[in-house]
Amino acid sequence: MNLADRIEKQLPPELVEFMQAAGLIAANRGQSLYLVGGVVRDLLLGRSNHDLDLVAEGDAINLARQLTEINRAKVTIHSRFRTANLKWNGWSVDIATARSETYSRPGALPAVAPGSLDTDLFRRDFTINTMAVELVPGGWGELIDLYDGREDLKKGLIRILHENSFIDDATRIWRALRYEQRLDFKLEPDTLRLLEQNVAMLDTISGDRIRHELELVLQEELPEKALRRAGALGVLAKLHPGLKGNDWLSEKFGETRKASSPNLPSVELYLALLAFRLSGKETKEFIQKYQLRKSQSQTLRDTLILKDSLGELSGSELPPSKIYSILRDCSQPALTAVSLAADSPAVKEHIRLYLTKLRYVKPALTGKDLQKMGFPPGPRMKDVLNQLLEARLDGKVTSKQEEEDLVRGLISHG
Ligand code: ATP
Ligand code: MG
Repeated sequence: MNLADRIEKQLPPELVEFMQAAGLIAANRGQSLYLVGGVVRDLLLGRSNHDLDLVAEGDAINLARQLTEINRAKVTIHSRFRTANLKWNGWSVDIATARSETYSRPGALPAVAPGSLDTDLFRRDFTINTMAVELVPGGWGELIDLYDGREDLKKGLIRILHENSFIDDATRIWRALRYEQRLDFKLEPDTLRLLEQNVAMLDTISGDRIRHELELVLQEELPEKALRRAGALGVLAKLHPGLKGNDWLSEKFGETRKASSPNLPSVELYLALLAFRLSGKETKEFIQKYQLRKSQSQTLRDTLILKDSLGELSGSELPPSKIYSILRDCSQPALTAVSLAADSPAVKEHIRLYLTKLRYVKPALTGKDLQKMGFPPGPRMKDVLNQLLEARLDGKVTSKQEEEDLVRGLISHG
């Protein structure tokens, strides 16, 4: 099969021209060059994907350096893995030296050695990700499909390449669920059996790598699908026994997308909803175990603080200044998560009021104005500015004049 037509129709002309030029340069150097992985899968599915992954037989680094001549791309070299990245005009292309991988023990990072296209395809996760397309002029567009990936694409199956695949690298368990749910495919029966058999292998993967897989899940269009499937297969419980991929989660993720539209919700926001049912202690363990990034752990910690304030926040006659003081130090994703997750209409309304109005309220008078009125700088001034803000929030003052009167009153009373 030849994919030249699809390549030329589905990929931007700039990328097509780059690949043609790259194929020619590789051929002149006596190297073979292929387009591999996700983009080939998506070409066959007619899905948009502009992340080009190229594999060269023979060293990719000097080839990549020479390819910068095509479009003056900026090249970044990773000598340890013999890979390179080219960037120009907003495009990004990865070029790797074909390699073989061996796993010394389950969950270890693989030992890498230079190899052929065949060995490079054999190290991959699922048959649908093992297809390659020739880029050198003589073979331009020819599909190389050593593991019947095209057949599995047609049947809608996620299939590993060998029995030990999930043992070698259990991150593939999460990857399998992600592709299955993204593409509305099914795990091939032997693959499903081996996945279920090897769920415990997730324990061999470092927290930081698991976090990365979870981030990828949460960047999917409908992350709740993979989380629900993960729940049913015991994979989510491995992440943390307190997590649930249930109807509640799906409903909240859906509402979150509506609230975030036209953007996709952030990973932080989704994480806060996923972890909403965890206790304080469990949340802290979760942050630690998966080495969550700063913004992620901040969001989860703020969510805990807010959960502790839910009683107060659900009060009916809460003055705006009180709402402000409860919510002022919490990050936006935590506030959004709690307003979506909370059952109380009053809580939702108070957070909405804060996010749309209260957080923007400022007194008319500044520190400088107070100084001009004869107020000495110092901690007392800060206190007065705070009182001005509170009065503004609660509508006790509504003009600069009223603020000045309030300040004079405060001065005269010491
Ligand atoms: P996506 O659309 O999610 O980006 P992709 O196929 O491009 O899908 P990447 O994570 O970008 O996936 O990885 C590129 C390729 O590298 C994959 O197609 C797959 O062949 C291979 N790969 C990635 N992670 C693994 C892994 N853990 N085990 C084996 N092969 C992997
Ligand atoms: Mg990719």
